[in-house]
Amino acid sequence: MSSDSKRARSTVGTNHESMRQRNLMVMIQTIHAEGPLSRAELTARMQLAASTVGDLLSELESVGFVVVEEPTRRRTAGRPSPLVRADSGRVRVLAADVGGDHISAGAFGLGGTMLSRAQAATPRSHDPEDVARVTSELLERLVADLAPESELLGIGVGVAGVVGKDETVRFAPHLGWHDVAFADLLRARLTAPLLIRVANDADLGALAEHRRGVAVGVANVLYVGCDDFGVGGGLIFNGVPYRGAGGFAGELGHMLIDPHGRRCQCGRDGCWETEIGLARVAETLELGDSDLSRVRQALANLDENPPALDRVGTYLGLGIASLVNILNVDLVVLGGSLRDLYPVVKRTTDSAFSRAALPALQELATIVPSGIGSDAVLVGGCEMVVSSVFEGPVRALADVDTCSVAGYRTGVGHGGSRSSEGGPGQGASSR
Ligand SMILES: [Zn+2]
Repeated sequence: MSSDSKRARSTVGTNHESMRQRNLMVMIQTIHAEGPLSRAELTARMQLAASTVGDLLSELESVGFVVVEEPTRRRTAGRPSPLVRADSGRVRVLAADVGGDHISAGAFGLGGTMLSRAQAATPRSHDPEDVARVTSELLERLVADLAPESELLGIGVGVAGVVGKDETVRFAPHLGWHDVAFADLLRARLTAPLLIRVANDADLGALAEHRRGVAVGVANVLYVGCDDFGVGGGLIFNGVPYRGAGGFAGELGHMLIDPHGRRCQCGRDGCWETEIGLARVAETLELGDSDLSRVRQALANLDENPPALDRVGTYLGLGIASLVNILNVDLVVLGGSLRDLYPVVKRTTDSAFSRAALPALQELATIVPSGIGSDAVLVGGCEMVVSSVFEGPVRALADVDTCSVAGYRTGVGHGGSRSSEGGPGQGASSR
């Protein structure tokens, strides 16, 4: 055989293998995003021969990424097709939501199913080391409940603050943080090293709604969330998270809405969140404090459009109108306490919105409450990790760097290493 034909044959082999690995990555993402799926549905989605899909599935099943279940009932006429699911496989993703009032954490199966959840009060000191300690304790409590043979893919963390592309928390007014490398603090507390990604909480809310909530399949989405004290925003443009030049896009809570308004936590006057945030709603309803669950309970007991909330409802509509005028989105998703507020003040808000939004833009935009609710940031954290790994630097199944729960407990951690930069939903990782 000539060296030319040897080279040609080896290139064919390499191309075949790289195509097979690419198909494995696409298959994991398809099952994660759309599963559980019948094998017939998966074959149609992948546009591959049934035998090729069978081979790829066998490989994913052998490493515990997916489970193929025999059908229990006939889904269509003809031979029933086995069901492919990722959530009952071995791979687990952790997520945490760090707010000014409380911290929550969740363990997910690949496929986006939340398997367990834990929550604790944010330390009153708001000291980053203390917050990292409580967050790591919550995460380790979740890991303790996982089967030893489970494989951990990583941790996605949402923080109520301005987070740069390098994943440093540049400014978190309600935590009093400036330039906090939270991933490093968390990593130092964990028993073994894991992939950790950090992003703004509202960016993760937007990602969650786009992948699993009311914004699935919608190209241009504005997510406005309000938790604990602050209002933040996340943007999806043309189906992709938009983070701006420095990664800080979407600080909607600090949009100036009344130059003579109240002093905001950020130090400026008249920010949008001083008019529509939890503290303002609690004060208007004379609740004494702005505890999220108390505000939710109070809103649930109100009749629609109570006069007391006219001002809050009007400012909610005016702010959304300004944003829609600038962004021309298809959908505005209201999360956190705004999910509970909007149905109560809907008439007032919609009326202010229709007065202030330009007709051509308002015709295209729909305002809806969040479909996921209070765990949107955790769901987004899981999605960020999955995207990081499968859309990011990993090119082959063997390179997917997981850590077994048994190994984690002994401090062994991952086998390999990765590094790059990015943001929610974009290929990236941070070790
Ligand atoms: Zn402000």
